[in-house]
Amino acid sequence: MSKIFTMVSLPGAGKGTLCSQLSKNIECISAGELLREEINKESHIGKKVKDIVAKGLLVPVDYIIEILFKNMQDKSKIYILDGFPRNLEQALKFDEILLQSNDKLNNAIYLKMDEKLLNERIFGRQICPQCNLSYHKTLLPPIKENICDKCNVALIQRKDDNEEVLKRRIDVFNKETIPLIDFYRERGILKEIDASQELEEKVKILNKILKGD
Ligand code: AMP
Repeated sequence: MSKIFTMVSLPGAGKGTLCSQLSKNIECISAGELLREEINKESHIGKKVKDIVAKGLLVPVDYIIEILFKNMQDKSKIYILDGFPRNLEQALKFDEILLQSNDKLNNAIYLKMDEKLLNERIFGRQICPQCNLSYHKTLLPPIKENICDKCNVALIQRKDDNEEVLKRRIDVFNKETIPLIDFYRERGILKEIDASQELEEKVKILNKILKGD
């Protein structure tokens, strides 16, 4: 049986950065990143979701399930699903799928951040168009300005990291994801990590959660 975790947060809280610090047997799968890949490939799903993602709204759950679960076939791995589920509807579908494959959700991890910090986090964010690694102009800068340390290509800003779309993504989080967090809290499987701590500290806490301590 795989060990399965999910991680949710406001946009820009640093889920991607945290995931990039974990060891190799832990696989972080970002729903948003998979969607962006489909959009870049102009695949069947990519074409359907492009406008929805550009607006900062949630795409239909069946598309997410289709692209997510083909990446989760190794039973010896620890998986962290970054950004899935995002609401109660998705959580209930997820439960059904896990039940069918005899798996269970170990913990839901909430990377908790004050909404006031969000603008600084989001507008300084840069990603590598090739490997998807996340950087931040001041908080986590690359060695060479605007260049990916790993791929040596120019970093870009995400199209949905702009003021108007960000407002909508925060709205979606408050309306859809907060009830999901409450649902996992009531189930007794919610773990919270304060996003304002140093990265090293957050990695330590996350690794403890993943080990089940
Ligand atoms: P993220 O990279 O997590 O910020 O997600 C970027 C965008 O992808 C979101 O604003 C949504 O449009 C879409 N998205 C990501 N995860 C999901 C999900 N679980 N359900 C629906 N849409 C999603």
